[in-house]
Amino acid sequence: MPTPPAKSHGRLSIKAAQKPRELLQDTPDIAGAWKAKVLTLYPEMFPGVLGHSLTGRALQEGRWGLEPIDIRLFARGKHRNVDDTPAGGGAGMVLRADVLGRAIDFADNGQRRADWPLVYLSPRGKPFTQQMAQRFSKARGITLLCGRFEGVDERVLEARQIEEVSLGDFVLTGGEIAAQALIDAAVRLLPDVLGNAESIEAESFSSGLLEHPHYTRPAEWEGRGIPEVLTSGHHAKVAAWRQEQGEALTKSRRPDLWAAYQQRIKPKK
Ligand code: SAH
Repeated sequence: MPTPPAKSHGRLSIKAAQKPRELLQDTPDIAGAWKAKVLTLYPEMFPGVLGHSLTGRALQEGRWGLEPIDIRLFARGKHRNVDDTPAGGGAGMVLRADVLGRAIDFADNGQRRADWPLVYLSPRGKPFTQQMAQRFSKARGITLLCGRFEGVDERVLEARQIEEVSLGDFVLTGGEIAAQALIDAAVRLLPDVLGNAESIEAESFSSGLLEHPHYTRPAEWEGRGIPEVLTSGHHAKVAAWRQEQGEALTKSRRPDLWAAYQQRIKPKK
């Protein structure tokens, strides 16, 4: 299947960025499919990695939808500023609450929905987890706010009750990479996107454990073979081996996950 064109956002192609009037027209939902609306100063960064491989194919097939919304379109006044200097002084610029408020209200279609989370990607947020990805994928869709510069005016986070989610304990220059990571994790959990519910159940975090190692052909590579049990054809033994491996990996690499797993799976008598 050919790589989708950079600006194609699903079955109904939405022209992003530089065409205010077109963008401001309400974009129709693709037959009720899960949808991500992304508020960004760089709509041309989307779909980005999401336009390729499984997520890209699913986007083309209309299994999910993407609507980048250019924050700049909501700036007003002579200079159409989206940012300004921080109150109290200091380096950098802060995205304005009035501009963001209008952009969010546009994304909301004038009405906030309970089944439609509103998230600001932020290093101060709750660390993103597989559980969050599951929650977001079960919603009707999600609206994501990507910050830039020093971040956003605190008042808009309060007034619009925005949930803050972090990709991890590091600082990016903008929220767009984090938004694409979050969307990718949610989209692959949508029914019919991966087409293999079993592989989702077994993978890291879903069970509370890290996943076991994988092997494929050639049977020998640089003198290294494949663990014998995997070529035995004995399904129960393979399953037991995988479980052991997952447990051992989790125990050594992620004591935090291991402790939580033991609490959950093997409650004390
Ligand atoms: N001054 C801020 C960092 C701003 S970084 C602070 O110290 O908290 C600029 C933008 O990048 C942020 O507004 C946010 O949207 C995005 N960003 C940076 N790091 C991120 C992370 N770990 N997770 C999610 N978004 C992040």
